[in-house]
Amino acid sequence: MKYISCDVLDAVAAEDLNRYAELKGFRNNYPLDVKDFAYTVFGLDLLEVNMASMNFDGIENGSEILGGLYPEGHSFMGHEKVIIVDSHINNAGRKRFTIAHEAGHYSLHVMGVDAGSAVYNRTTRPLLCRADNSRKDPLEWQADYYASAILMPETAVKSVISRERKFGTTACRDAICRLFGVSKIAAKIRLQRFGITVSDEPFKSRVNCGERQFAAMQRQYSYGYS
Ligand SMILES: [Zn+2]
Repeated sequence: MKYISCDVLDAVAAEDLNRYAELKGFRNNYPLDVKDFAYTVFGLDLLEVNMASMNFDGIENGSEILGGLYPEGHSFMGHEKVIIVDSHINNAGRKRFTIAHEAGHYSLHVMGVDAGSAVYNRTTRPLLCRADNSRKDPLEWQADYYASAILMPETAVKSVISRERKFGTTACRDAICRLFGVSKIAAKIRLQRFGITVSDEPFKSRVNCGERQFAAMQRQYSYGYS
């Protein structure tokens, strides 16, 4: 197991987003269409699966599994190169994060990260991801970081910070949530990476901006990667 730095993970995510924009022929819009991203960049299909009804080797209860990745050479119900996600996840943000996490396993751990002299952490086996206890595994942490980096790209987040910081840290967080379609906790963790600790200060008037103002912000923070 090799350590991969946050800088390298952000760079890999930015490269993959660039590739997505190139393949689609237009700049990326946010919130990111993560299913289309995984298909376009990696050729990964998506299957929604009732995990509770599945039998996985070595796992007592299928409902522990949130998502999984079956790379080429491994078949899940007749499909290869497929992301599976639990059909019972009813929080849209959580489902998007899970799909992005599995795309992260493909980019980082199946394709491998070439960090100069070595390809890190390469695996060819299927990966099954649980809700919580597997989070301690560095592979799981790396896939989580990658997910946050493609859903909330570094350049875009830094731009939101420079614009919103004067309105307070919760204003930054809430702008991130709305612009990138992520949960408050995901936004908070991403902001910490760039030195912003979200305090529990009351919302400023700026946060409750009208739809027109929000649409203007969204245009401003729409990023191209080509
Ligand atoms: Zn995982």
